[in-house]
Amino acid sequence: MEIYVHIPFCAKKCNYCDFLSGPADEKVYQLYVDALVREIEGHSRQLGRQTTIETVYFGGGTPSILDVSQIKSIYDAIRSNYSLAADTEMTIEVNPCSARGKLPGLREIGFNRISIGLQSIHQRELEYLGRIHSFDDFLSCYIDARGVGFRNINVDIMTAIPGQTDQMLSETVSEVCRLEPEHISAYSLMIEKGTPFYEQFGDVEGPVVGEETERRLYWMTVDMLKERGYKHYEISNFSKPGFESRHNIGYWKRVPYLGVGLGASSCLASPQGDVRSRNTTSLEKYLSDPFAKEESSTLSKDEMMEETIYLGLRMMEGVRTDDFEKKFGVSVRSLYSDVIDDLVAQGLVYEGSGSLSLSDLGIDYGNHVFAQFLR
Ligand code: SF4
Repeated sequence: MEIYVHIPFCAKKCNYCDFLSGPADEKVYQLYVDALVREIEGHSRQLGRQTTIETVYFGGGTPSILDVSQIKSIYDAIRSNYSLAADTEMTIEVNPCSARGKLPGLREIGFNRISIGLQSIHQRELEYLGRIHSFDDFLSCYIDARGVGFRNINVDIMTAIPGQTDQMLSETVSEVCRLEPEHISAYSLMIEKGTPFYEQFGDVEGPVVGEETERRLYWMTVDMLKERGYKHYEISNFSKPGFESRHNIGYWKRVPYLGVGLGASSCLASPQGDVRSRNTTSLEKYLSDPFAKEESSTLSKDEMMEETIYLGLRMMEGVRTDDFEKKFGVSVRSLYSDVIDDLVAQGLVYEGSGSLSLSDLGIDYGNHVFAQFLR
């Protein structure tokens, strides 16, 4: 099983962000940590020590906005109530500014992977996105992270920013690669409802720069990263061999996970089918009752099969059709024969022996492909 810990606080909301996050009074941080610890302890009575935790991921929001002592108390609650694997992947997302001075403490707690949000090396783009850090802030955070012994670092970059020229993107990718992080996530800027950009651009959802430019910049990024030795292992994720994010692969392969914190989702196995639930998204409610749910439902076998396919297709290795058959007692072919034939004929998927995966064209039309597997 995996554990995800949501920290919903940020110094300032970025212009593109639709995550459940925002600024809060520092006094709220401690109340939140107390509620999180109660939630972690409470779930352990149900899940207990019988399940080994393979990965723990502190995401947000900005987990590094908390004090090291607060992060440690959350981690201690996990360690004392669950059984961590000897090689548990322990990731924390950090902002270059709020991480300052905290990295030795984070390493000491036991984090072995760190994810730094950079997005761009260009100040103009950082300001446009509403990021609070500069490239220099990022650089000193990165150097400090290496200095205190992080041997597994992810850097987030962003493509398809309005005004981003090929040269600007190429400079961001080259500068980041020069530092040799083990992992790079590259997401295109999309306009999402409820964000300052959505207000600014009106009722436009998707890439502001237009689909064609967005796709061109995406493939330029893929090519540059591959040339520099990064393996393209998921639509938006790249790593040096052996440094794929185990936590995220768990999502795509449908490993059960417990999400704790405001609005966090869980998907846990039960004899009736996997139970998908989401915590309350009201901070006030969460602080008084960290077990309050926004929704909860048991997935049918059809839903689990659909998810296995469209999440699995996000990975370049695709869906292991033999594993699918072992798990569900029915072959992918027998369920989706016509769909697969059509997608193969259109050049959107490859059908290998034992796998089904997206072609390059299929990556461009990913949402269309995924939708074909919904019954
Ligand atoms: S730091 Fe991350 S979570 Fe916070 S507002 Fe910016 S993009 Fe959203």
